[in-house]
Amino acid sequence: MTPNSLSRLLFGLLFGALAGAVVGATLQEPLTGAATGALAGTLLSIVIDTRRGLRLLDWLRGPQHLAAPRDEGFWGELAYRIERALRQKELAIGQERERLSQFLAAIEASPNGVMLLDGNDQIEWCNTVAAQHFGLDPQRDRLQRVTNLVRSPQFVAFLQAGAFDEPVTVPGPLGRSTISLLVRPYGEGMKLLLSQDITERERAEAMRRDFVANVSHEIRTPLTVLSGFVETLAQLPLTEPERQRVLALMSQQTGRMQALVGDLLTLAQLEGSPRPGADRWLALAPLLQRSLADAVALSAGRHAITLREAPELEVAGLEGELLSAVGNLLGNAVRYTPEGGRIELACSVLEDGRALIAVSDTGPGIAREHLPRLTERFYRVDGSRSRETGGTGLGLSIVKHVVQRHGGEIDIESEPGKGSTFKLLLPALRVRPAERALSARAEAAA
Ligand code: ADP
Repeated sequence: MTPNSLSRLLFGLLFGALAGAVVGATLQEPLTGAATGALAGTLLSIVIDTRRGLRLLDWLRGPQHLAAPRDEGFWGELAYRIERALRQKELAIGQERERLSQFLAAIEASPNGVMLLDGNDQIEWCNTVAAQHFGLDPQRDRLQRVTNLVRSPQFVAFLQAGAFDEPVTVPGPLGRSTISLLVRPYGEGMKLLLSQDITERERAEAMRRDFVANVSHEIRTPLTVLSGFVETLAQLPLTEPERQRVLALMSQQTGRMQALVGDLLTLAQLEGSPRPGADRWLALAPLLQRSLADAVALSAGRHAITLREAPELEVAGLEGELLSAVGNLLGNAVRYTPEGGRIELACSVLEDGRALIAVSDTGPGIAREHLPRLTERFYRVDGSRSRETGGTGLGLSIVKHVVQRHGGEIDIESEPGKGSTFKLLLPALRVRPAERALSARAEAAA
């Protein structure tokens, strides 16, 4: 019994006894009245106390989201203290939850996949990136055994072997990607799985290997021919015409090597230098005229080469690079179009403001299946024809690099037997009419 309840009990007892005595006195039974009053007062205070206690118990049994009963005295203070302790706990839990969700949001934002596995290799949690890497659903697949969902034999064998010192490479879902996987054990048999999509890196590495192999091959072939001729010159007594013929062939091979090294340097330069600024304007017409003159010289009268009426334009870019792009397209047209064919250079402005530079020829054309690969380094439709005519296999990849560096794109239309059209599209941002440039200059001068 608490002091508070005790005092209420005493008060009930005394007040009851007094009231009973007063009422009893009117009936000439003061003592019986006092005793009955004391009993009634005591009972009443016990009932009030019990009711308050039961109300608090009721509240405690419930979900406690409503306020605790606000009684006076002992039960009121008990309810208040219990409620305060509860609310503080709730607050602490809320803060912990908030911290956990921030922590998970940070892991969620990671560019890498993160997955937590329990001792039975069941998924405790995984971020969206990991779910994508393994083709999982972060919500639905929780608490599922990961090896039941990710069935790649490499993955299953890796997890079962338990040797996690080195990362392992596994195929992604549908086998279209390559995922690098690192496992770090923690806690009691738990595992942290870190995954990274390395498809692009692998592709770049494969391209680099192919490129080195191709360059080596392209250089070795003329070198082998050259060393054969050197031996011939050194060992065989040749007549003057024979010597001249061997020297001419040797010069052809050195020319081929020079062209290859030149194109390789151009590519390296294009890859290593910053993008051309959009504020260096140059007139397009003279640039096209120069390319045309070079093509006419290369053709040496074998083709009809024309420049269709071109609008007076200025483009923002690097003259050397644009000359090389247009020159490469015209060079290809001359080299692949049989004698008597027509080659046309044209330039126009599209409705959306882009500039279109097109080189069309009446040459052999190219089958549809080759078109997407034409701009790859060393890709040739007909290797021997390309080499015969002095091709390095790098021309179109240089062209593509140049237009892409200028924010544009290359489009190829061709059909076997019907000739080809190579289009360079430069973005509107880098194109302006020459008059505007003139008036801008006039304004600046005024
Ligand atoms: P190459 O030095 O071999 O000409 P390119 O990269 O310039 O290398 O061209 C790639 C391939 O595209 C060429 O080998 C050739 O088969 C084909 N090609 C390019 N331009 C033309 C064209 N105007 N007509 C027909 N085929 C072409």
